[in-house]
Amino acid sequence: MDVISTVRQMQEYAEHLRCSGKKIGFVPTMGYLHAGHLSLIQRGHPLCSAMVVSIFVNPAQFAPGEDFEAYPRNFDRDRELLEAEKVDILFYPDTHELYPQGFQTCVNLDKLPKHLCGLSRPVFFGGVATVVTKLFHIVKPHVALFGEKDYQQLMVIRRMVFDLNMDIQIVGCPTVREPDGLAMSSRNAYLTAEQRPAALTLCRSLERAGQMLAAGVSEAHRLIGAAKQIITSYSNTHIDYISICDPETLEEMERVDRSALMALAVKVGTTRLIDNRILSP
Ligand code: AMP
Repeated sequence: MDVISTVRQMQEYAEHLRCSGKKIGFVPTMGYLHAGHLSLIQRGHPLCSAMVVSIFVNPAQFAPGEDFEAYPRNFDRDRELLEAEKVDILFYPDTHELYPQGFQTCVNLDKLPKHLCGLSRPVFFGGVATVVTKLFHIVKPHVALFGEKDYQQLMVIRRMVFDLNMDIQIVGCPTVREPDGLAMSSRNAYLTAEQRPAALTLCRSLERAGQMLAAGVSEAHRLIGAAKQIITSYSNTHIDYISICDPETLEEMERVDRSALMALAVKVGTTRLIDNRILSP
């Protein structure tokens, strides 16, 4: 595996790959890799002939006071994991390489960021859309893979790629979970053993909503109410949002009379966790 840390070298490499007929697959990450990240690489391999993974903790998607500095990092371990997954190129730029002095261009979407995580993290999706656009121009992928765990992010990327006519196939991949159901996340590393049962209330409340729906309860407020009850039974939780919404527009739905997204964000101690599932009547 080659490790590349400059934009120029990565662009030249990508151009060379394209000219020699290779199909470039791309998985952007912030590192501290787990089985969720690796599943995207495994899903991508049959779709491409050269696999590029990036590790970049993107300061533009963190607001002041969020965990940019504290975000877990372990480059040596990540590199070993990527070698084992037969990744061809690891793109690992530093902050200055992607945001040199004078940087002032941003990609923003109008509507999708006005829901769910965008409400409590108003700079987040602009930061994501901007860095992913930059990475797409640098890595020049034919296909890029993103996790459904970050459902709203996946929708933002799909919309952006469509709106800006980027010639890239976007592939969404299912959420990989710990054996107990907790959605894998680099931020799970922040959780103490005592916080773990509280963290499990996210997936448990999604499951409960699925069961209630199967039993004929379709009013969103009742499904959300049951989820709230499960989550607030632990005193170290703070609900950011629980939403039942249209899976495309993310606009709230009152009743699950067609396919709906149930998404939630909960702080356990100081760790903000998200999870979601599709509810089908
Ligand atoms: P991150 O490093 O958190 O920015 O995530 C990089 C990519 O991995 C994103 O497309 C995420 O949606 C995806 N991802 C993160 N956690 C999971 C998971 N548990 N299952 C599947 N994909 C994931």
